[in-house]
Amino acid sequence: MERVSEIRLVKRSFWDELSYRSNWFIFGLIACILLAFIPIVGWFMAAGVLVVLLWKTFGLREKQKVGDCPVCTQTLLIEPKVEGIDCPVCQSYVEITDNKLIVES
Ligand SMILES: [Zn+2]
Repeated sequence: MERVSEIRLVKRSFWDELSYRSNWFIFGLIACILLAFIPIVGWFMAAGVLVVLLWKTFGLREKQKVGDCPVCTQTLLIEPKVEGIDCPVCQSYVEITDNKLIVES
């Protein structure tokens, strides 16, 4: 028998969004500063990191995919381009399709 649940698209909550953005900002800034010590190549890389950093910090809010584990209903965050995850709660292997989570059992 297989169990199936829907994948849904959600926006992060305000506080998650805030910590996500401040992480990007802080670690991006540290990376920029370190890269800036490397002449020429590092400066270009620092500029690249800075663009990504500004986009991640001030850009549009990204949506993320979440779904409930079909077995134990634990909410799972679905990273892009991942084909399956092990549920941290019930240890089931959850297969990811375009819009569904599937557990074979
Ligand atoms: Zn589970």
